[in-house]
Amino acid sequence: MSAVLLNGKELAAKKREQLKKDVEELSTKGITPGLAVILVGEDPASKTYVGAKQKACEQAGIHSVLIKKPDTISEEELLAEIDRLNKDEMIDGILVQLPIPKHISEQAVIERIAPNKDVDGFHPINIGKMMTGEDTFLPCTPHGVLVMLKEAAIELEGKHVVVVGRSNIVGKPVGQLLLNENATVTYTHSRTKDLRAMTKQADILIVAIGKANFISAEDVKPGAVVVDVGINRVDGKLCGDVDFESVKDTASYLTPVPGGVGPMTITMLLENTVQSARNRQ
Ligand code: NDP
Repeated sequence: MSAVLLNGKELAAKKREQLKKDVEELSTKGITPGLAVILVGEDPASKTYVGAKQKACEQAGIHSVLIKKPDTISEEELLAEIDRLNKDEMIDGILVQLPIPKHISEQAVIERIAPNKDVDGFHPINIGKMMTGEDTFLPCTPHGVLVMLKEAAIELEGKHVVVVGRSNIVGKPVGQLLLNENATVTYTHSRTKDLRAMTKQADILIVAIGKANFISAEDVKPGAVVVDVGINRVDGKLCGDVDFESVKDTASYLTPVPGGVGPMTITMLLENTVQSARNRQ
């Protein structure tokens, strides 16, 4: 039996059509949502991500501003730029593309962004609100995963979710969001002993480690839902952390790479930006 593919590309397109309408409605009230993206340095992958975010903004009618800074910028100068954007009334969302150069504290940068403009959902105040289940900007990739699961009407309550990876931007928050949905969550990571024994217990397996084709059919319980967050490049081709060819005959649902979680991430960013603009009223 072959897994049903969770098509993030299609769902993202549908959501972006709705967003366009939301933006049009806001414009009748004289509001144009604005997103400022700060790019520090010349990292090619970061440039690609930033370019994709800008294009998506443009298509949705969101005003986007790209602020490019050299990698020699001091922490003080970068924080001053964020202060300026925090005060800018035309800007509803501020995003600093990570990673940033080592001489600048990532945490200081994240904490400087006003929580009500933190459309990435990385500020400790927003993370805290997510943990307590309050309404807030949710981090985009984990939120995208949740929306995909819900769209496919996959039951979450009481299910055993195993998350592989515990980063602050994907692993930890995706587990928290599913806990909020009454799933039972197990976190695993590079120090986990006998990872396979854990992953094989999952009703829903979420993999976010950044290691190409790491999870194979032997790691998956037959009939499990498998969400592959990984984006890796092997011989110039994109692939996930899950060995798609092997797992597709074991899982009940599977996200492809590309075309799975990836397109949902930017869509959730747009949604947060539009929500932030709505909050202006
Ligand atoms: P990080 O490098 O920040 O975290 C990787 C996590 O994986 C760590 O918690 C690490 O454990 C764990 N890990 C690494 N190797 C193993 C292993 N052999 N066994 C078990 N756990 C392991 O990565 P991110 O969370 O930022 O990203 C993960 C992947 O998701 C990447 O491929 C990234 O490109 C992709 N990504 C995709 C997005 C999308 O939009 N689809 C958005 C963001 C990321 P430990 O903590 O012990 O070191």
